[in-house]
Amino acid sequence: MKVAYFDNAASTPVDPRVLSAMLPWFSESYANSSALHSMAQHARHAIEEARQAAAELLGASDPSEIIFTSGATEGNNAVLRTFQGRILYSAIEHPSVRVVAQSFGRRAEPIPVDSSGTVRLDALKAMLAQPTDLVSVMLVNNEIGSVQDIQAIGELAHSHGALFHTDITQAVGKGPLSLADAPVDYATLSAHKFHGPKGVGLLWVRSDAPFQPYQVGGSHEEGRRAGTLNTPGIVGLGAACRLVIDEGESEAARLRAMRDRIREEIRRRIPDAVLNGQEDGAPHIVSVSFPGVEGESIIINLDSRGICCTAGAACSSDKRASSPVLEAIALPQEVLAGTIRISLGRFTTEAEVDYLLENLPEALCEVRGLHLPLRVSPSPQPFPPTGRGGV
Ligand code: PMP
Repeated sequence: MKVAYFDNAASTPVDPRVLSAMLPWFSESYANSSALHSMAQHARHAIEEARQAAAELLGASDPSEIIFTSGATEGNNAVLRTFQGRILYSAIEHPSVRVVAQSFGRRAEPIPVDSSGTVRLDALKAMLAQPTDLVSVMLVNNEIGSVQDIQAIGELAHSHGALFHTDITQAVGKGPLSLADAPVDYATLSAHKFHGPKGVGLLWVRSDAPFQPYQVGGSHEEGRRAGTLNTPGIVGLGAACRLVIDEGESEAARLRAMRDRIREEIRRRIPDAVLNGQEDGAPHIVSVSFPGVEGESIIINLDSRGICCTAGAACSSDKRASSPVLEAIALPQEVLAGTIRISLGRFTTEAEVDYLLENLPEALCEVRGLHLPLRVSPSPQPFPPTGRGGV
């Protein structure tokens, strides 16, 4: 069955150009990049090219500040575990930050956000009155797409003697991303969120910032991350970075236009829908709540129509626990339970968006046990056979 894929914030399809860059490193040039022979040297060269591409994407002047990891989870864990002192983290951080911070007990405190999911700078400023080692605030939230002013947050942190970490996982390819002059000391990301492979990411540590290696037992990555380097994955990450450098701006504009159409049409076709997050947040995420229904029921109904999206965030959808992000923006419980996330990517087509907009009101009617279809257009359209993400 053809699938209309609206779960790009959970993971994206690997771009065919990324895949073809990766393939030789599985079967033709498979040497361990730490070895002495020429095949290993060849791998080392490819890894350094990827590091260069990643540095260019982030605007990092020194590529050696980039450490390849297994993904943003590892990077986030490693940054937080570097510190023994007080840590402030936003109340809407990904669990790979939040859960580590919570394990520190009273020395880590959440920074509140407002109802649009924007970090409250007044609260952060007041919290920074006490000595703090690290502030950790994500650039783009994965559940509701809210975007933070990391310039202002980083400046506040620095002016109070704290370092600043930002998880940029959901921001890559979704808007400008130069960290060169930004007050950022650590940044983390995962390649599979921007059409690269799963299981590879990076951690950027500014050269003067402290770092405690998380994985030890080898001198890889200048002793900062032990373990054989994932050459195909790293090459894929580098190729995915290059595509964002070349095409990111126009892609973000295309995503933004599709997102705006989805938001407008949901408002028009489903008047009691609650759109979450900022009015002009991340271009690829629409978070919407339908009062009085379970998000999971809508997801299952949409799935039966060949539409993939997520209730809340994918990272927490295996447990029926509530979402700390939606709680932090103070969504009432009866609205919160009916939240779904629609997320767009490079291969999302207008035809898929049409299909989603046609089916969402019907799915909602069915889940609510209503028999009158809310359909606005005259007849249901079969899902057109277009769109790579749809195979
Ligand atoms: N941070 C954010 C903002 C994310 O969206 C994700 C993935 N859901 C992660 C961290 C973790 O990424 P990974 O599972 O690839 O380690």
